[in-house]
Amino acid sequence: MSEQQHRNKSGFETRAIHAGYEPDPRTGSVIPPIYATSTYKQDGVGGLRGGYEYSRSANPTRTALEGNIAALEEGERGFAFASGLAAEDTIVRSVLAPGDHVVFPNDAYGGTFRLFDKVQKLWGVDYTPVGHAVETVRAAIQPGHTKLVWVETPTNPLLGIADIEALAAVAHEAGALLVVDNTFASPYLQQPLTLGADIVVHSTTKYCGGHSDVVGGAVVVRDLEIAEKIAFHHNAMGAVAGPFDAWLTLRGLKTLALRMERHCDNAEKVVEFLTAHPGVTKVYYPGLPEHPGHEIAARQMRRFGGMVSFQVAGGEAQALHVCERAEVFTLGESLGGVESLIEHPGRMTHASVTGTDLEVPSDLVRLSVGIETAEDLVADLDRALG
Ligand SMILES: *Cc1c(COP(=O)(O)O)cnc(C)c1O
Repeated sequence: MSEQQHRNKSGFETRAIHAGYEPDPRTGSVIPPIYATSTYKQDGVGGLRGGYEYSRSANPTRTALEGNIAALEEGERGFAFASGLAAEDTIVRSVLAPGDHVVFPNDAYGGTFRLFDKVQKLWGVDYTPVGHAVETVRAAIQPGHTKLVWVETPTNPLLGIADIEALAAVAHEAGALLVVDNTFASPYLQQPLTLGADIVVHSTTKYCGGHSDVVGGAVVVRDLEIAEKIAFHHNAMGAVAGPFDAWLTLRGLKTLALRMERHCDNAEKVVEFLTAHPGVTKVYYPGLPEHPGHEIAARQMRRFGGMVSFQVAGGEAQALHVCERAEVFTLGESLGGVESLIEHPGRMTHASVTGTDLEVPSDLVRLSVGIETAEDLVADLDRALG
């Protein structure tokens, strides 16, 4: 059993606090220092003291974060990137070649769509955007040509749920890999590698960092051959997390379990309020029994998360009005921080997909429910809707 697998046997909260770093034997430092160094003194030519030679290739603060997130996802190797999109780009360059095809969710994060549509396509990787139903994905796979099935679950901003276990089987039947963007769930609520996914990707900017103070990304894998390819491209492309960013993200991960529990508690209270409000026409939350992905979500997630979207009576004008009137909910992009955020996907996060298959309803409002007092959040929405 590898050290990683050993560590994976302890509980999630224990791993979140301890995995990836042992107190420094020289100083006893409980928390990894921010190793603000680009290079390392060598004991003779090629004689590396701690295995470090240059901080693009590896840096001890980043190593601590990489070990931690790998343990939280129950993977073998973790890699920390400068952003979620840098992590995504590196996955594509690592496991695909020009001429390959990707099956891709039609309500993906807008920036992920843009990466495939405007960047990877020029490199020669084509994609087909489809719904995430198992039969739809199976039908979109081009035998011998499709090398990657990419899913996001829950999706952004419509909170659709993809069946990770079933999609892993469909991808593997076709000789393709399954990548899961686990940003919305976080490793606390869902561990895709344990359900058969080959690669997990995060925007750690969101729940993992959790405090809206750092941009970052992560990739976690179990298969060591895939790990070698990612490791090579991580260094060769160089979109690595800096030591201070890695330190902030690791600090965030330590409280992930506590934060996610409160995000879920508060989201449930907000959903209860919204579903009863006459000015709200539809609420999207996988915890609702009528949500089409509810059963799958109940099977593969610990709880249903902190993201809630809803449509309002009165069209786009009312949706914009609600976003602008909210006070406790801050009007802003991003998600997953301790503070509640509200936004209009059509004009903000998803503006780049207007006029494409990924366009979202114009009367849609998206909430990232934070960890403030639940009653204050509900009262704020009540006022904003009025
Ligand atoms: C934010 C986000 C990304 C992109 O990550 P960055 O850190 O902003 O580069 C990818 N996927 C999802 C689901 C996201 O929310």
